Amino acid sequence: MKATSYDPNRRVPSHALGWRGATLLVTTLFAGAVSGCSLDQANAEGQIPAAHQESGAAGPSPFVPVSAAPEKNKAPETADALPSGTGVRIKTCPARGGKVVVLSFDDGPSPYTDSLLAILKEKKAPAAFFLKAKKLAKDFPKYDEYRARVKRIAEAGHAVCSHTFSHSGLVGPHVTEASVREDITKAEDLIADITGRRPKCLRPPFGDTDERSLKILKELDYQVILWNLNTDDWRYGSSDREKDFDPPKILDMVRKTLDKSEGPFIHIQHDSEESEASVKMVPQVIDLLRSRGYTTITLQECLGRPIDIPKL
Ligand SMILES: [Zn+2]
Repeated sequence: MKATSYDPNRRVPSHALGWRGATLLVTTLFAGAVSGCSLDQANAEGQIPAAHQESGAAGPSPFVPVSAAPEKNKAPETADALPSGTGVRIKTCPARGGKVVVLSFDDGPSPYTDSLLAILKEKKAPAAFFLKAKKLAKDFPKYDEYRARVKRIAEAGHAVCSHTFSHSGLVGPHVTEASVREDITKAEDLIADITGRRPKCLRPPFGDTDERSLKILKELDYQVILWNLNTDDWRYGSSDREKDFDPPKILDMVRKTLDKSEGPFIHIQHDSEESEASVKMVPQVIDLLRSRGYTTITLQECLGRPIDIPKL
C-alpha cells in the first residue's frame, strides 16, 4: 500500500558514559519534555501524524559540535506521551528552542542519495537519514551499492537512523509483537554492520505507532522521531504521483508552516527511488528556511541526547 502520508540527528558523545549512562543523564530533561506537552503541531495538513552523528567510524563531524542549549533557548514541552506512558513520539526539539530546524530524509538509500549528500555538503547542512534497511540486506539487488551509500552518509557526519527493515509498518493486523521486534532489530543490525554504530533513533513507517510498538521501542532504547515541518514531497515530488506532481508545491508547504508557526522544526522529505524531483528541491528548501532566519541543526542537538551506541 502506498502511504498517503508520511513520512527525520547529532549525537552527544556517548562513549564516555555508555548509552545507559547517557540516557540516565538526560532523563531529567527528557521527562520534563514529555509531561504536559503540546501535541500535534506536527502535521498541519491533516495528514496522519504520522540526528546527526558523530560516528565513531566516520571520524570528526564537519558540523557544529553539540552544545548545551542556552537556557533562554530552552524549548518548551515538545514530545508527546501516550496515555499509557509507554513511549514518546518526538515531533519537535526537546532540547532546543528558537528558529532551528533538523532536516530529515526517509526511505533511503536511493539512486539520489549521492546527489542529496552533495547538496547538503554544498549548503553545509547536517541532516538525519531514516533508512529503509531491507535495501541493505544481501538479497537486495543493489546491496553493495546501497551499503556504500549508507557508509558515505555516516562518513559525511549525518545522523543514520532506522526506518525499520520492512517498512510495512509497526501497527496493524499484519504484525505481532515478535515481528515488530524483528523489524526493528534486523534494521539495527544491518545499519550497525555498515556504520559501526547501533542506531537508537527511529521513524516509524507512516508515522504510525501504537502502545505495543512504543513499549518495544522503549525497551530497545529507541527515540521515536516524527516531524512538524511537512513538505508532502511524497505527493508533489514523487515520480509515481503523476496527478499531483508539482515540486514547487514542496516550497509552498514549507512556507505555509513557517507563516503560521515558529520552530523548532523537524522537517521531512524523502530519499527514495521516486524522489529525484524532491531531492532537487532541497537547495531551495534550505535557502527558504535560512531566509526566514532558521539555522539547520543536528538531530543530536535537537534531542539533547545521543542517537546511537557503539556496535560492540
Ligand atoms: Zn517511509
